[in-house]
Amino acid sequence: MDIKKEHINVCIRIRPVLAQDNTASSSLQIISKEPPMLLVKERNQIFNFDHVFPDCSDQEKVYLDAVEPLVNCIKLGYNGTVFAYGQTGTGKTYTMGSGSQKSEDNTKEGIIPRALKQLFTDNNDNEEIQVRVTFCEIYNEKVFDLLTLNKTPLPVSGFTAPNLIKKCVINVTEANNLLEWGNKNRHVGQTKQNSNSSRSHAIFTVEYENRIQNTTSKLNLVDLAGSESAKKNGTKGRTFQEGININKGLLTLGQVIKALSIKSSYIPYRESMITTILHDSLKSENFISLISCVSANPEDVLDTMQTLDFAQKAK
Ligand code: ADP
Ligand code: MG
Repeated sequence: MDIKKEHINVCIRIRPVLAQDNTASSSLQIISKEPPMLLVKERNQIFNFDHVFPDCSDQEKVYLDAVEPLVNCIKLGYNGTVFAYGQTGTGKTYTMGSGSQKSEDNTKEGIIPRALKQLFTDNNDNEEIQVRVTFCEIYNEKVFDLLTLNKTPLPVSGFTAPNLIKKCVINVTEANNLLEWGNKNRHVGQTKQNSNSSRSHAIFTVEYENRIQNTTSKLNLVDLAGSESAKKNGTKGRTFQEGININKGLLTLGQVIKALSIKSSYIPYRESMITTILHDSLKSENFISLISCVSANPEDVLDTMQTLDFAQKAK
């Protein structure tokens, strides 16, 4: 069995320098691989995490270290959640594989298609398992179903949105098609993918029922709203209220993960919609992998520090 001792796995992924960065210098340096230690040169500050993925790490490496063990736990009946956190443009969607543009290059595939493959393999008998998916987005503290064209927010009762559409899928392709289709229904129909997705949290959930084991577990794959500071000029066109709601959601998420890691008796699930909706998966017996994406561009150092602080506090 591949059950990890640690239920909360905190990783940093450094995005490679892009052409638009207009710089070759880096504010980040990995000063030790084991244990993983990261130095922010401008601040002379050192952070340590469970994994630090340098900018040359490929999608497979990130998957194997940050997600594969968690998906093994899903197959054994536990719930698990993978979060991509970070400032807009640092690679959350690339890492999660939740973007709508398909790539012919399999090596570029992100977490979601890889997790689906892992869930669908090794099932000798297809009668043995049943897989269902839901896909929703949280925008301005309201839940919107992405598997329908209906744009009205869903009612939330207790900790769930009971009307969320759940679709049975029999293979990876069917699940990927729903992901692709749902993505097109994301909020604020703008042409630029980032100005659109930076405003909301997208939650793709795979429910995995094993009829032989008699277990049903959930894997949540979450592409969080951009964590950039509201002071940043324009914040990619966000409104003031959007910014406040995003901050509140991310702040509460950090507090909930922290409360779980220190085994606190009070966990503030109710203080934001994202932690309300994920409540049944954010329990101490379940598994969390937080992948915090950062840019090494010295111009982004304020947001990078904020992301590293968030990740450090979650442990
Ligand atoms: P976010 O979702 O955090 O706003 P994206 O995933 O859209 O960021 O990434 C921003 C840009 O950087 C995209 O063009 C993406 O393809 C590219 N990118 C991000 N991470 C990587 C990486 N590890 N390797 C190559 N390109 C990347
Ligand atoms: Mg994105």
